[in-house]
Amino acid sequence: MVETAEVIRQVLARGDGLDPWLSFPQRASCFGFGPNKSAIPIGALRLLWAAGWPWSQPCPSCRGTLHAISFGGLLSAGGAKSVCTGCARSFFQQIGGLGTMADLVRASPLMGTEFQPTGMTFGGATTSDGAALRSALGMAAPLPGAGKSEVFNCVVSAQGADSSQLNELQLSDGDK
Ligand SMILES: [Zn+2]
Repeated sequence: MVETAEVIRQVLARGDGLDPWLSFPQRASCFGFGPNKSAIPIGALRLLWAAGWPWSQPCPSCRGTLHAISFGGLLSAGGAKSVCTGCARSFFQQIGGLGTMADLVRASPLMGTEFQPTGMTFGGATTSDGAALRSALGMAAPLPGAGKSEVFNCVVSAQGADSSQLNELQLSDGDK
């Protein structure tokens, strides 16, 4: 996830110089934002990243910081996928089902702001290839299929995991 890590670094470095409604490239978030229930915008991610766990936390592999880029779930399994701005590795953290993730969102600083989620998809994802954001950052266009939904493959495979695995960080599929 070297490219994703670079997008996060740029979004953090550019501060308010970017349109906060540009969608971040991700394939697994169950929440929609704004009047069109669009994929998660960088303005929402910035607020979450500033709020600490589970949206940002120390990386278990290096001294960098994990930044959540997508989150959601199914009945009992779900959590957040995060990418480290230090080593660029990606992790999936099993936290709880979609209801638990919705509770965490409701307790987050998004509520009461323009970035409060306007939609939630059970078993699906609101994705973006981040083309407009990458263009604004002067990065190359996304690869074909980059916006394809992952539909929380990692979550489905985690179904039935015992509770001792709760909150354990696991390297995500597709960590390239
Ligand atoms: Zn790291």
